[in-house]
Amino acid sequence: MPQLDISWASLGKSTNKPQIMTHPDFKLNVFLEASRPILLILNRVYSLASASALALTADIMTAPATLSPLTPAQLDEGASRCLALQQSGQDIHRKRPFAAILLAPDNTTQLMSSLSLSHVRHAECELARNAADNYSWEYLAGCTMISTWEPCAMCAGTVYWAHIGRLVYLASEKTLQGLIGAGNPENLTLDLPCRDVFVAGQTQVEVIGPLTSEGWERRVVDDAGRYWSKHGQ
Ligand SMILES: [Zn+2]
Repeated sequence: MPQLDISWASLGKSTNKPQIMTHPDFKLNVFLEASRPILLILNRVYSLASASALALTADIMTAPATLSPLTPAQLDEGASRCLALQQSGQDIHRKRPFAAILLAPDNTTQLMSSLSLSHVRHAECELARNAADNYSWEYLAGCTMISTWEPCAMCAGTVYWAHIGRLVYLASEKTLQGLIGAGNPENLTLDLPCRDVFVAGQTQVEVIGPLTSEGWERRVVDDAGRYWSKHGQ
């Protein structure tokens, strides 16, 4: 139906009756009325597509909140993605060489990632906080964080509080300290193994790392060395 509008500004002075005027959107309304069947069909198609996408998300989200063992292939794939993130963070985004990703309970789907944002906003704790904001405590118990470097005490603590079930790190904090050197104000490495933090907690965090024999620690060091050779002591 065309919409009508009573324009009081157009009151006829002689008759003192309001003039009933056609709304300026009349043509648009007629067009929308004629298009209604097509719009209904498009709406239905969109709804079906959305439902399909939601069903896929639900499959991932309702996965059991228990840790499934990481296969060597999944470990390699996750490590490769994490190192690639560190490399691109350094080369493209001018970030310090630290990176972390979060895998869903299927050990394959990557839920989120983070780079080192500042001297207090480390990749691992930024990711853990984002994860805790977006996913349930129970769900995260089935998730795996992979980081290029062993998380510091602050980041390990955040992983614990976020209730992320498993941590994989490629290179150790000791190795980082050796690479950076003592007394470097850009990274005064906190010498406390993440396992020492986790063991003090009341829930278990499975820890895998460093991946030395698999060759990942060496690759992380090689990549990070490009940065620290310019920012070392
Ligand atoms: Zn940290």
